[in-house]
Amino acid sequence: MTDHTVLIAGSGPTGMMLAAELALAGIDVAIIERRTTQDITGSRAGGLHARTIEVFDQRGIAERFISEGKPVQAVGFQMIHLDLSDFPTRHPHTLGLWQVHIERILADWIGELKVPVYRGREVTGFWQDDTGLDIGLSDGQSMRAEYLVGCDGGRSRVRKAAGIDFPGWDPTTSALIAEVEMTEQPPLGIRNDAIGVHGIGKLNYEIRDGKVVFLDGGPMRVMVTERHVGATSEPTLRDLSEALIAVYGTDYGVHSPTSLSRFTDMTRQAATYRDRRVLLAGDAAHVHSPDGGQGLNTGVQDAVNLGWKLAQVIKRTSLASLLDSYHAERHPVGARVLQITMAAVALRRPDERSKALRDMMAQLLSMDEPRKRIAAEMSGLGIRYDFGEGHPLLGRRMPDLDLITANGPLRVFTLLHRARPALINFGEPGALDIARWADRVQSIDAKYAGPWELPAVGAVAAPAAVLIRPDGYVAWVGDGTQARLADTLTTWFGPPA
Ligand SMILES: Cc1cc2nc3c(=O)[nH]c(=O)nc-3n(C[C@H](O)[C@H](O)[C@H](O)COP(=O)(O)OP(=O)(O)OC[C@H]3O[C@@H](n4cnc5c(N)ncnc54)[C@H](O)[C@@H]3O)c2cc1C
Repeated sequence: MTDHTVLIAGSGPTGMMLAAELALAGIDVAIIERRTTQDITGSRAGGLHARTIEVFDQRGIAERFISEGKPVQAVGFQMIHLDLSDFPTRHPHTLGLWQVHIERILADWIGELKVPVYRGREVTGFWQDDTGLDIGLSDGQSMRAEYLVGCDGGRSRVRKAAGIDFPGWDPTTSALIAEVEMTEQPPLGIRNDAIGVHGIGKLNYEIRDGKVVFLDGGPMRVMVTERHVGATSEPTLRDLSEALIAVYGTDYGVHSPTSLSRFTDMTRQAATYRDRRVLLAGDAAHVHSPDGGQGLNTGVQDAVNLGWKLAQVIKRTSLASLLDSYHAERHPVGARVLQITMAAVALRRPDERSKALRDMMAQLLSMDEPRKRIAAEMSGLGIRYDFGEGHPLLGRRMPDLDLITANGPLRVFTLLHRARPALINFGEPGALDIARWADRVQSIDAKYAGPWELPAVGAVAAPAAVLIRPDGYVAWVGDGTQARLADTLTTWFGPPA
């Protein structure tokens, strides 16, 4: 086994996305993965939110997911459907696609990018010094790297070995989730009762007119809330049968589980996402209830925020302090996800008062402004990093506009396929001079005649120019002058050549 510049613990969605970002930047990166194959037991996350689809579009791989998934033009906030169809994006929808397929597509991509994945072994610990880390593996070997990123899930060994606190809240509810066969036909759909929310569906489904239609045959997917929280043992078929009987009066002849797990609303976030040469991303940095399907999406977007920064630090284009902006930007996003999911859990409590609150919330969210605000947050399209005061585009995602350039039409996201920053000048051609960053930052003159509109914000003034980071967020907005452009380029992409 050879050493690598960056080692990633865990080839879940977060680890694979990060590996791809680093590989695109030409960094020698490898993944250590406990699982012997990419297969996962159970369906886990059920899809992608709009911003994650955009993030994949920025890298030219969105179609791989879209062609297999099922679009729904809404996000769900505790069974309240928030319409997305008027959102200004090419992807005003969520995409139903089980995690097993999302992981397969990502695994194929990192295979094309030639990222080595060392399977069947775990990261067990590490020792940091001034130039790198020695990383211990469960097979008794060790590897050396300049940086180690823990993308090793909620029980992260990397986080624990780094001694990073994981403060938060213990679970208040617990549910069993399983893929099973049933000899009798159960009622399909969601059920609410005094114990909580439960659902029985099929793994195979279609979306027709925005509604889930289950297909004949195939395994069942069961989610049943348990009467008591706190069980720590691995769940058994007997536990599932008893939980079903408690809710439905029968277990419908449940048998042959292909997956069975327990999930809770335990809510915790790493106190810091970085300790010198160790970084955390995805579930390793934040865990919460699956309500609203935020986990996988947040992890993929952590990776896209971190990848280019880490690549620049390794190439010595930027100082290691650039990595602190990863925590500064992503920790607040994670904290908000924790808050939203905790609110969602509170709203699904079965008592009458919670139900009254849920009804009031549904009324509020049927109004345009609140719907747009919360839908923008849940879909990730409303994320804004704090780059200070200025044009509303500053710190927000760059829309995928249809540009006209000297070489013909061009989509903004095409510029980001190789994960390189871009300056787009909409003013006088040649008016902006960034020759001293030309080795790092693309620069093009373009025209755009359409409207400028941002999700939940609405119409904004057309900028004279924009500087877009590799993750697709706008770092600088031009007003017709070069004011602060050189400083901003230096902040994000290093000093002039
Ligand atoms: C039962 C269950 C149901 C879920 N349901 C939903 C849902 O309905 N909707 C939703 O949005 N999200 C759901 N999630 C959450 C979602 O699956 C996660 O948010 C998502 O997988 C996070 O991706 P990740 O890459 O950060 O972590 P993970 O997917 O957990 O990946 C971590 C990887 O690291 C590997 N690993 C762990 N320790 C080590 C180590 N020491 N060394 C090397 N490798 C290691 C693991 O094998 C794994 O491959 C569910 C999760 C679970 C467990």
